[in-house]
Amino acid sequence: MPTHKASTEAEIVEAVMTARAWKSPLEIVGAGTKQAFGRAVVTMGSVLDVSGLRGILSYEPNELILTAAPGTPVAEIAAALAEKGQRLGFDPPDWGPLLGAAPGLGTIGGAIACDANGPARVRLGAVRDQLLGFRGVNGFGEAFKAGGKVVKNVTGFDVPKLMCGAMGTLCVLTEVTLRVFPKPPLSTVLAVRDLSPEEGFALLRKVWSSPLDATGLAFSRDRALIRLEGEKAPLAEKCTMLRALLGGRAAEEVPDGEIAFRAIANGEMFLDTPYDVWRAFVPPAAAAGVAAEIDAPLWLGDWAGGLLWLGTLPGSDTVRAAVHRAGGHAVLLRAAEETRERLDTFEPQSAVRMAVTKSVKAAFDPLGLFNPGRMWDGV
Ligand SMILES: Cc1cc2nc3c(=O)[nH]c(=O)nc-3n(C[C@H](O)[C@H](O)[C@H](O)COP(=O)(O)OP(=O)(O)OC[C@H]3O[C@@H](n4cnc5c(N)ncnc54)[C@H](O)[C@@H]3O)c2cc1C
Repeated sequence: MPTHKASTEAEIVEAVMTARAWKSPLEIVGAGTKQAFGRAVVTMGSVLDVSGLRGILSYEPNELILTAAPGTPVAEIAAALAEKGQRLGFDPPDWGPLLGAAPGLGTIGGAIACDANGPARVRLGAVRDQLLGFRGVNGFGEAFKAGGKVVKNVTGFDVPKLMCGAMGTLCVLTEVTLRVFPKPPLSTVLAVRDLSPEEGFALLRKVWSSPLDATGLAFSRDRALIRLEGEKAPLAEKCTMLRALLGGRAAEEVPDGEIAFRAIANGEMFLDTPYDVWRAFVPPAAAAGVAAEIDAPLWLGDWAGGLLWLGTLPGSDTVRAAVHRAGGHAVLLRAAEETRERLDTFEPQSAVRMAVTKSVKAAFDPLGLFNPGRMWDGV
């Protein structure tokens, strides 16, 4: 398949105008680390390689605002923010290795398009809460902007939210502006052991609703993991308050706690396994019940139970029914292409929702040029 490599917005406009003229679709690719996520794109066209739109365009630590070209690696942005004691609130994971790609290459545009939120999302919010504005090129070949570059900015339709998780089916992002967050200098991860899933998730929900502002609340096997952050004295106080909250249960400090939460974000427990990997979003109070019902060979809960990572036997379709009964939904993050086609990567849509989805798609990309079929048949 021919590849167009674009390094500027003008080159993207040109590529889209050519695609329009030939009615020839474009597969939009950043670093290509998440190609194995989502349905395979129906490709009778070209690859549009946007990794050349790279670099931090402006960063104002005092305003907590960063603007970057979407091909900028998340790692590069994280490093620049860390220098100023800041971070991305949605805590983007690195799913490269889980999806068969190299680590450390994923781009900020890809993280936004795939709605890739990590453990701190439980406290700091999702990418849709933090993408303040963007520039992009739509399927008419028009360069446009939406949102702005300030935190207090809610005029007009909140188009940036639409881009989060759209998998590049609506427009080609050419610039993104994100709200960033201070990163407290210290963190402590405490583990509470010998818990059943019911006990573990109940404990995590209790911590969540306390004033401790935990930025990590995960449960795996028989262990609840709680990440607390702060300056030295307030952090010590938070640890004391947490121990009081535990009602006599012991909490031990995990020496490699940050690594443990990175491993959770990146789905590392599934790396060398044959299992399909699901991310199921459920009401936290239902997490233990859903996990018991699905009985996956390998699983863990993040976000105090709001997110279940499930490793299921290849091709097995037990997840969605149980998740739906609890009022949740599920995304198939890793599976063979044939399974992703058969089971749908994203939640199958009702007729009404699909009609709305298709009308949004048609408003941005009426010829269906961008990543056709990536989310659902025809979208
Ligand atoms: C002086 C001033 C300063 C402001 N400063 C700020 C600021 O600094 N930051 C900030 O975030 N906000 C600010 N605001 C508020 C901001 O301007 C409004 O949120 C914004 O105008 C809303 O714009 P809109 O396009 O969403 O809809 P509107 O301008 O409210 O509506 C446009 C038209 O669409 C109609 N309409 C709207 N919704 C619907 C619907 N669902 N169905 C049918 N018809 C509908 C309305 O009746 C109206 O005719 C300010 C407002 C003013 C007046």
